Amino acid sequence: MASIYIETYGCQMNEADSQYIADRASASGYAVTDDAAAANVVVINTCTVRDNAEKRAYGRMAQFKKLKLADPGVKLVVCGCLAEQDRDVMTGKAPYIDAVFGTRDLARLGDALATWRPEFGDDEIDLTQENLLLGKLGGHGDCVGDAYAHVRAFVNVQRGCSYFCTYCIVPHVRGRFDNRALDDILSECRAAIARGAREITLVGQTVNAYKEPASNADFADLLAIVSALPGIDRLTFLTSHPKDYTPKLAATMGALPNLNPRFHLPVQSGSDPILRRMNRKYSVAQYREKIALFRATCPDWALTTDLIVAFPGESDDDFERTLALCDEMSFAQAFMFVYSPRRGTPAALWEQVPPQIGGERLRRLAETIDRGVRAFHAPKIGTTVRALVQGPSRKDRSKLAAKTIDNVTVIAPAGALGEFELRERPWLDVSIDAVFTWGCSGEIAGIAARYDDPSPVAAARPTIDLVTAR
Ligand code: SF4
Repeated sequence: MASIYIETYGCQMNEADSQYIADRASASGYAVTDDAAAANVVVINTCTVRDNAEKRAYGRMAQFKKLKLADPGVKLVVCGCLAEQDRDVMTGKAPYIDAVFGTRDLARLGDALATWRPEFGDDEIDLTQENLLLGKLGGHGDCVGDAYAHVRAFVNVQRGCSYFCTYCIVPHVRGRFDNRALDDILSECRAAIARGAREITLVGQTVNAYKEPASNADFADLLAIVSALPGIDRLTFLTSHPKDYTPKLAATMGALPNLNPRFHLPVQSGSDPILRRMNRKYSVAQYREKIALFRATCPDWALTTDLIVAFPGESDDDFERTLALCDEMSFAQAFMFVYSPRRGTPAALWEQVPPQIGGERLRRLAETIDRGVRAFHAPKIGTTVRALVQGPSRKDRSKLAAKTIDNVTVIAPAGALGEFELRERPWLDVSIDAVFTWGCSGEIAGIAARYDDPSPVAAARPTIDLVTAR
């Protein structure tokens, strides 16, 4: 059977795009594999938000060249933000690449997969009813080489961004806001639920700026409608902009029972002059007001954020304000970066902060953030948390990794639990006996099919050794 391997870099938008590619591939009769060496089509879904991501993507292309040399029939495809940015030069830099698709060309990539499909033989085309139906519905978000990927679905609600932060390449490579029609979003969510998704993540670069073109429904309306879909288990969303966090959205978030209690609201800096230079469209005081509203309407939720240090012009004083704000906010998690200039953005042309200062600021910021993370994790000791399985832990495959609904990683020994049981009952009840900055660890006490199931099925463990007892 023809197979496709998809490697994804970057943000949740790329995750959603990879899911779309997997959908289109499945509908055309491909199996999604996690073994690049066995695939007929290898797709690298690239990111260009940081220089490292760019270098890594070109590095991976060079590694995949070996597959092409071993079998010239293999198709190497590059898509995503780097493909959009370098579309005119990429095949010059990597001439063995078969096709380059920009961020607005995903439908063409889907068409190309269907066109190439006969080249890989027609022996076992799996156009099952489900694939045909879901293909029509606009895709079902099949797993990307992961046994449990079906339990999470990323549904794109919006492409592009119109905010033009001065450090960000997204509006340049993905274009301005392009909001999807509500009906399309709902069809995709229904299809994901039908396929067994326990958690739906609505994704967009500035997801809470969503406005439905025809009905004028806003993001709060969208959340309420999706959360009421029959069969939905949990709902969450990424990434929000402080400017679009409104009292209506705050009230909606506080009222919906199946919304995950986790809010990601990037602040980027705790200094007004830097926020202005970043063109973030809010002040520190306005961010504080938004968080006060959030804490009042969503008590006990996890607040997470993004931060950039050493942005051009950031003084020691600016940085100290960022540290002070982080101490005050006590974020449950933060994605922290040293500023990295992106070609084509205004900030890339400004005088840069020396890298050693950036490194030192990142280290100090991480210490501050870790205090908040530890404070958030500490109360979980001695409790039992319910977490959605992700798969075997990367460090120790005898253990399972899972995520709580407030987005904390949990690791526990898998014991006798196997893929067969977990595909049906992917919620793990884990009694937590240790907490760390990366998450928590413990023992699995049971498994459940849905988040609200009151009594989990006890994790199967043999009580006697059946071989020696015979
Ligand atoms: S809000 Fe700013 S950082 Fe976020 S995608 Fe838009 S331009 Fe980029």
